[in-house]
Amino acid sequence: MCQSCTNTLLDNLIRHGHLIEMGVDGLYGRSGQFEDVVSRFDDLITRWGGGDGPEVMRFPPAMNRVHFEKSGYLKGFPHLAGTVHSFAGNERDHAELLDNVANGKDWTGWQKPTDVVLTPAACYVLYPVVAKRGALSEKGGLFDLQSYCFRHEPSKEPTRMQLFRMREYVRFGTPAQGTDFRALWLERGQKMMAELGVPIDVDVANDPFFGRAGRMLANNQRDQQLKFELLIPINDGAGPTACLSFNYHQDHFGSTWGIRTPDGEIAHTACVGFGMERVALALFKHHGMDPEKWPKAVRKALWG
Ligand code: ATP
Ligand code: ZN
Repeated sequence: MCQSCTNTLLDNLIRHGHLIEMGVDGLYGRSGQFEDVVSRFDDLITRWGGGDGPEVMRFPPAMNRVHFEKSGYLKGFPHLAGTVHSFAGNERDHAELLDNVANGKDWTGWQKPTDVVLTPAACYVLYPVVAKRGALSEKGGLFDLQSYCFRHEPSKEPTRMQLFRMREYVRFGTPAQGTDFRALWLERGQKMMAELGVPIDVDVANDPFFGRAGRMLANNQRDQQLKFELLIPINDGAGPTACLSFNYHQDHFGSTWGIRTPDGEIAHTACVGFGMERVALALFKHHGMDPEKWPKAVRKALWG
């Protein structure tokens, strides 16, 4: 550990240039080395999951607002959602807007919602796409996604960013296909992360659902063990951080989007999500700020 490594993890990351401040908590640039770690981890995920033959799709970090509304995200997480607005005034409004900007006054009143919403989790974009294709085949569906995701949760913890990348494998099919997939990844995920030499733990998850109705959603999620997380201690003086998550949605997305199995049943879905920045941060935290000095076995797992 170098001599300047005395402050918080966030300070260290910024001092070493791995995170680049942009003046907003949770919004950072990344160093070349940080990005290299992210892409090597991306490759590691493919080595563990690519053999299952998923269909690869990549989407921009935004989605159709109508699809977003239908997805139900606003029921649980209205406080995290980010919507894209754009100027919708006339020339006089424009002059006033510029005036307000110049005088430090609010200028956002002329901004109107567009058809675009920022993607909250990589898989939200996928369900309407799969629904449009018609009934699933006997084999169900398996998809490989990666997207920048937005969540309005500004924080000084480097692990809680407002824009971060999520890689996901998403499974569609019968209830058994959904639960088998999740069981497979619960085990695989732990083996894969063991290659990275970081301390891991797996637990049932508690999502930050909004409000009183949200408490019921949270209880249901916990009682039915719908979501597990692979946790790694990363932040100073705080509990461990969820770096991978293993979700079984039952028929939630299948019934929302009318996705069916070949025998006409509502499809069940499951997904495994990998927090790309969180895993990179875990590696910097546990192995130091210089990836060239990381343990041999870890370097081998990532760089071959
Ligand atoms: P948390 O409970 O810490 O808020 P989450 O359970 O909401 O995380 P998921 O919705 O399961 O997270 O998202 C999948 C993965 O994306 C998480 O396992 C995590 O690695 C990553 N992730 C989620 N939120 C953030 C964030 N704000 N910054 C960076 N990575 C995140
Ligand atoms: Zn998902």
